[in-house]
Amino acid sequence: MPTTSTPHIPHRVLVIAAHPDDEEFTIAGTLAHWIRQGAEVFTVICTDGSRGSNDPDCRPAELAVIRRQEQEAASAILGVRQVIFLDYEDGTLQPTLELRRDLTRQIRRFRPDTVVCGDPTMRFYGSGYVNHPDHRAAADAALDAVFPSAGTRWIFAELLGEGLAPHDVSVVYLWGAGEPDTWVDISDTIDLKIRALSEHRSQVGQDWEALSQRIRARAAQVAATCTEESGTGPTRYAEAFRCLILRRPTTGTAA
Ligand SMILES: [Zn+2]
Repeated sequence: MPTTSTPHIPHRVLVIAAHPDDEEFTIAGTLAHWIRQGAEVFTVICTDGSRGSNDPDCRPAELAVIRRQEQEAASAILGVRQVIFLDYEDGTLQPTLELRRDLTRQIRRFRPDTVVCGDPTMRFYGSGYVNHPDHRAAADAALDAVFPSAGTRWIFAELLGEGLAPHDVSVVYLWGAGEPDTWVDISDTIDLKIRALSEHRSQVGQDWEALSQRIRARAAQVAATCTEESGTGPTRYAEAFRCLILRRPTTGTAA
């Protein structure tokens, strides 16, 4: 695949996101692509999504239930094996040691070769979009959980008592990165991405056509960047990442 510079097709993937819908907006095409190649994907959602509305009649506790159902439905479309909800309060997530411990627990439990999370260094994009602080907090704690917590026996030693031995993650994909270096061709899976995203009705409404156009336009823009940066292509639709290879992957297959 000339337009895809991924170092490998992962065997087992853990995605760490702040909110229900983050995964579908950002990386669902890649996940669907990997799942088609045989990867097992698991997802951790840090917050309960309960603040995702400005409707004065909204009841946050009820919205949290709806958003959990929406995430389950979206994940089922993509073929994600399991979604873990940590249920931190939406809107005020912090990269605490408690969150880092919770994420370390999930990494040691699922033992992924690949972790996918946001880029914790991104405060804003261009001149018109401030990155949600929950996104930064989740990404910050996720990266700290990958290294050093997950692989170091005596960090969060209480996890040993839960039967959770240290685990080394091989590769980290950061979405929303300021300087992407890896593109995944999602031309074959963009329809699935849009279908999965449309399950988040409380967030994206019911205008399927407008949503579809927006997602396609963005993915086409990313694909054009890929062609410019890597000199390969053309491809129609892509998602972009910054890739950290922490050790040579021992599982999965070469891309
Ligand atoms: Zn979000």
